[in-house]
Amino acid sequence: MKTVFEISSPGRIGVSLPDLDVPATSEIPPGLLRENGGKTGLPEATEGQILRHYVNLSTMNHHVDKGMYPLGSCTMKYNPKLHENLARIRGLSGLHPLVPDELAAGSLELMYRLGEFLCEITGFEGVSLQPAAGAQGEFCGIMIIKSYHESRGEKQRNEILMPDSAHGTNPATSTLSDCVVVGVESNEYGLVDPEDLKRKVGPLTAAFMLTNPNTLGLFESRIEELTSIVHEAGGLNYMDGANMNALLGIAKPREMGFDVCHLNLHKTFSTPHGGGGPGSGPVICSEELARFLPDPVVIREDDGSIRFSRNQDSFGRLLAFQGNIGVLYKAYAYIRTLGAEGLREVSENALINANYLKSKLADYFDNPFDNGPCMHEFVLSGDRQAKLGVRTLDIAKRLLDYGFHAPTVYFPLIVHEALMIEPTETESLEELDTFVEAMVSIAGEAVEKPYLVTDAPVNTPVLRLDEVKAVKDLCVVEPVDKGENI
Ligand SMILES: *Cc1c(COP(=O)(O)O)cnc(C)c1O
Repeated sequence: MKTVFEISSPGRIGVSLPDLDVPATSEIPPGLLRENGGKTGLPEATEGQILRHYVNLSTMNHHVDKGMYPLGSCTMKYNPKLHENLARIRGLSGLHPLVPDELAAGSLELMYRLGEFLCEITGFEGVSLQPAAGAQGEFCGIMIIKSYHESRGEKQRNEILMPDSAHGTNPATSTLSDCVVVGVESNEYGLVDPEDLKRKVGPLTAAFMLTNPNTLGLFESRIEELTSIVHEAGGLNYMDGANMNALLGIAKPREMGFDVCHLNLHKTFSTPHGGGGPGSGPVICSEELARFLPDPVVIREDDGSIRFSRNQDSFGRLLAFQGNIGVLYKAYAYIRTLGAEGLREVSENALINANYLKSKLADYFDNPFDNGPCMHEFVLSGDRQAKLGVRTLDIAKRLLDYGFHAPTVYFPLIVHEALMIEPTETESLEELDTFVEAMVSIAGEAVEKPYLVTDAPVNTPVLRLDEVKAVKDLCVVEPVDKGENI
């Protein structure tokens, strides 16, 4: 594809500027003025050429507005565009973060009400909307837990227990918070083994950190037993709520025995994500822990006014201001649009879609933890195909040729050649069927013409990349300049 400079042709313009209505001045050095033969270095093209250029560019990468994106654990669902408009209402988006509370009444009220909704959804009483990502929510949660133990004279509690299927951010957060990670084994059903948990808890346990449903897409059916084991040992239970898309209106973290959790608004509550942001990972906790939440909290006064307030035993501030506020507005709009019943339907449809795919693919791929219905996602293994010389990475690349983004691959670590598939509730039956056709077709290719899969992708603007180099030496400009593969 041509660069914008290659499209450029001298004298073409894409805008009509109004006549000059101020005195002309010639501060610009003559050599840079066009009429003096100067070269501005700016591309010159018509509006139509530029529009086509950028529309074409926007389709070179796969994205959720272009096609299904079944990236397990990430909940890449379709997000209503209406909410983008709402978040951009001038009075909200133009608000300066340092205006006094009285001039930010609308925004404060939205934050307060969103906090109330998130408490209702999780069963908790305290909330902070500050964390700017799920990972930062985890950090905030651990800091709250540490403050709690410290307030009880139990500063020595610094061990965070987590299953071997945990999301990578869980151990990372724990280490960053100066805690020690203690692994708990999963049993043959892919669920936390209560016996191993009993062996691992003790006087140093700060918390048990668990994703439910877990990263295999399975609900921890013995959750109350697990959380009681930890409570009895004096520890607290933290739920990584990034998978809340499976539980809305169906189950509340508080009722499962958790003390604190985070939610990923950018996964579950209507903000498109990927590529680094913007995110929002509010932390919601029990009344007992609320006094440790980061400063400031949003409170309602007796006269009904809403303002920021210092939190007496807070562990401190997390961010300079209030997090990614636009994401909060969108989450509020999403919850209000759907209502309680609508939210429950979101999760019900997410579960139905995942189970539909799981059963349609059952004959073609291995599923080591198929013990009945899954939640909103499931994890297949590409072992059968790997024996034929076709690895999961190859299957992922081949899916791009069929117009789909790959599922999450090689995670969770406890499944060989893992393919973690999360269709979400926003895909239609037709789209799910087309995805099944692609997967079945690739399974057939792996047997009959494996080179089609191992050489993939062939229909994308950039062919197979050196994955290691792409991570270590991130340079997205270079290939375009050299015209390679484009
Ligand atoms: C996405 C995710 C996280 C991390 O969220 P970020 O916003 O990317 O930091 C944590 N846990 C699980 C289970 C997730 O899926």
